Amino acid sequence: MITVLAGGVGAARFLEGLAAVVPGREITIISNTGDDLELAGLHVSPDTDIVIYTLAGAINPETGWGLAGDTFNVIDQLQRFGYERWFNLGDRDLAMAIHRTARLRQGWPMHRIVEELTRAWGLELRILPMSDDPVRTVIETPGGTLAFQEYMVRLRTEPEVAAIRFAGIESARPAPGVLEALRSASAVILAPSNPFVSIGPILAVPGIRQALAETTAPRAAISPIIAGQVVKGPAARMLEQLGHEVSAVGVARLYQGLIDLFVLDEADADLAPAVEALGMRALVLPTLMSTPERKRALAAAILAALERTP
Ligand code: GDP
Ligand code: CA
Repeated sequence: MITVLAGGVGAARFLEGLAAVVPGREITIISNTGDDLELAGLHVSPDTDIVIYTLAGAINPETGWGLAGDTFNVIDQLQRFGYERWFNLGDRDLAMAIHRTARLRQGWPMHRIVEELTRAWGLELRILPMSDDPVRTVIETPGGTLAFQEYMVRLRTEPEVAAIRFAGIESARPAPGVLEALRSASAVILAPSNPFVSIGPILAVPGIRQALAETTAPRAAISPIIAGQVVKGPAARMLEQLGHEVSAVGVARLYQGLIDLFVLDEADADLAPAVEALGMRALVLPTLMSTPERKRALAAAILAALERTP
């Protein structure tokens, strides 16, 4: 069983490759729910749904989120009633939010809801929310506190990040199956997701960091930073604003003590010694997942390296 810690777009691209080389029933995904939000009374889980849509082949390939070919009539109409239209939830995408919210009202825990959604999309792999309890990523800026999606979508990551908090984390418990998926895995992989706001919330759920630190499974992480830059998103800016080195080494340092293997892009081959000085092996590979073949090759190479890791 391979367990993957996952955010949204970066994770989904890696998971496409993994799902092409490993049977779905051998994959467990631990999904970030710190990004979740309420929109017109509906519960939306952007990261979990990006992973589901991508693996189901239904994702909008231009944006990396939302359903291909979706329209936005409902959120347009909502403006009539004073709703702001900054979060883009498509008409077909809404079905997922409506059903998830209905199940929550019926008292279903999030892990059962996600299991139902995963099956409804015909996927065999297992997706677990990091927690059934609500956790919300909060961005502290010089101008005040922002809910994560306000920072990310409404303000397009422009405000300076002074600190990142996870509201509700103290009382959150790992969802059933999460700790077991880390302890009994044959390999654990941290996707090339944002270390602060995608992997960070998962590791912050009490018990998860320790289970990762203590598992006997070989563990790898893939750098979301290539040649000091992101493919997309605020990870590089967050590294800088939070006082870290803006490079793959800066990311590796965040995972010190939690992983055995750190995957660096070819463009960063010269950083391998600095990564190894942190007490982990460095593996240099082409990590830009621009084609299905590159996604598959990356996943296969990482699995092969993990198999050789004692
Ligand atoms: P989000 O939740 O949708 O923002 O996505 P994630 O947190 O899962 O992933 C965002 C990160 O993925 C960004 O920091 C990107 O640099 C990284 N990323 C996206 N595509 C690639 C890729 O092809 N290769 C690598 N190495 N990183 C990528
Ligand atoms: Ca996300």
